[in-house]
Amino acid sequence: MELKEVLEKYEPVIGLEIHAQLNTKSKAYSNDINEFGAVPNTNVSPTSLGHPGTLPVFNENTLKYAVRLGLACHSNITRDMHFDRKNYFYADLPKGYQITQDKTPICRGGSIMIKGDNGNEKAIELTRIHMEEDSGKSTHDMDPFDTLIDLNRAGVPLVEIVTEPVIKSANEAYNYLTEVRKLLRYLEICDGNMEEGSMRCDVNISIMRKGSKTFGQRVEIKNMNSMRNVAKAIEFEIVRHAELIEQGAPIEQETRNYDATSNSTIGMRKKEDAHDYRYFPEPDLTPLHVTQAYIDEQEKALPPLPNDLLKKYQKELGLSEYDASNLTENKGIALYFEELIKNTKNYKAAANWVMGSIKSYLNQKALTIDAFPVSVDKIAALINIIDEGKISNSVATQKVFPKLLETPNSSPLSIAEENNWITQSDSNALEDIVLTIFKDNPAETERFKNGEKKLTGFFMGKIMQATKGAADPKTTNQILNQVIQKI
Ligand code: ADP
Ligand code: MG
Repeated sequence: MELKEVLEKYEPVIGLEIHAQLNTKSKAYSNDINEFGAVPNTNVSPTSLGHPGTLPVFNENTLKYAVRLGLACHSNITRDMHFDRKNYFYADLPKGYQITQDKTPICRGGSIMIKGDNGNEKAIELTRIHMEEDSGKSTHDMDPFDTLIDLNRAGVPLVEIVTEPVIKSANEAYNYLTEVRKLLRYLEICDGNMEEGSMRCDVNISIMRKGSKTFGQRVEIKNMNSMRNVAKAIEFEIVRHAELIEQGAPIEQETRNYDATSNSTIGMRKKEDAHDYRYFPEPDLTPLHVTQAYIDEQEKALPPLPNDLLKKYQKELGLSEYDASNLTENKGIALYFEELIKNTKNYKAAANWVMGSIKSYLNQKALTIDAFPVSVDKIAALINIIDEGKISNSVATQKVFPKLLETPNSSPLSIAEENNWITQSDSNALEDIVLTIFKDNPAETERFKNGEKKLTGFFMGKIMQATKGAADPKTTNQILNQVIQKI
């Protein structure tokens, strides 16, 4: 079946579980260094290995980051909580259990706003966020005979963010992942790098007849490490489920893997061998109590959040949705823009400079905004002299801005003055130039006089050439039309 055909009859129901590695300096329950890409098995102490006699010590930064995330999602922060042991055997889990939170997750409820399929804002409600630790990393494809295990990752702090089953399509799942990643990056608690595995996603998906209230049987697709693949896996599953239902075949409750090469999912394990994790409260760690003062402190430390900025730019600054989302995609850019609008009231021009010349310069040089040499007051001054008619927009972007990049300490006005780029709106001088051009181009002038309006461009070009782009386009156009009447 085709996806389109399926969607006429069935409604997908999707819930996502995202694991995000927290970028604390040390691991969640030991002082081993938490770093990606270190020589395998070098950041592994006896505590990470769970050797007899060792005891975990909780890294308070894990709590701090989880609380900040919860506050940003407007979740309820749990005040009294404990950790739980989740027991299972796997080669990359050296302790034989994972320390997690089962009964008392740090956050309950809350939501993340995305752009829904109908184009409107949609709240993706969260079930919970809990703190836990990562396992080691198994590599199955590097050695022909053996699985290689790197335990550097074992014990790295994670938050798991679980949504309610409210996502309705591959597109909404993609948008949700984008928003989560953006939020993690704004909070600077996780780099959100799916390719490196610091953000991973499990997809839970089922379909039901359109309008039905009863969910269908769900399957879980584990450990997706790209947003595009999440979307593809969802579309594949929707069709697979529909085909099974149409054939009258059962949908197994199972865990599946997505295979990018074949763009399909493959069954891994069925319900029958679902794990019994034998959860129990972690006896080696004391329960935690979070005070209101602590929560207030974290609330104060929150940076501006992408969704708040998105709304502010549209509602208060009157920018379009496109501009607002472009400006808030990246925290550094948004913060630069925030500073810029403290220096100019021409918000649209400020947005255009950031989204246009500044971003393309950064792209060209592969720089982030932190390395952008020109301070906001200089960009604001540039906007100002354009608004005052001292230089044209094109002179500003093509001449003054490049010079400003070379000499970021000089003022845009003095750059324009020193190079004679100040707009010539002196009518007499312009009239003379126009007359000369008419004289030099008699054929075109004749046609222009006879009403061939399309020659305006030709003459404007000549005038700009003669004035090296310094003529004010509006005045020039007026003068051009006045002079042609007179001759
Ligand atoms: P588990 O612990 O087995 O992963 P949870 O109850 O924690 O199960 O649910 C995990 C995810 O599955 C949640 O994101 C939830 O929204 C989603 N989910 C639950 N039921 C369904 C369903 N019928 N179809 C799609 N997703 C579902
Ligand atoms: Mg699950």
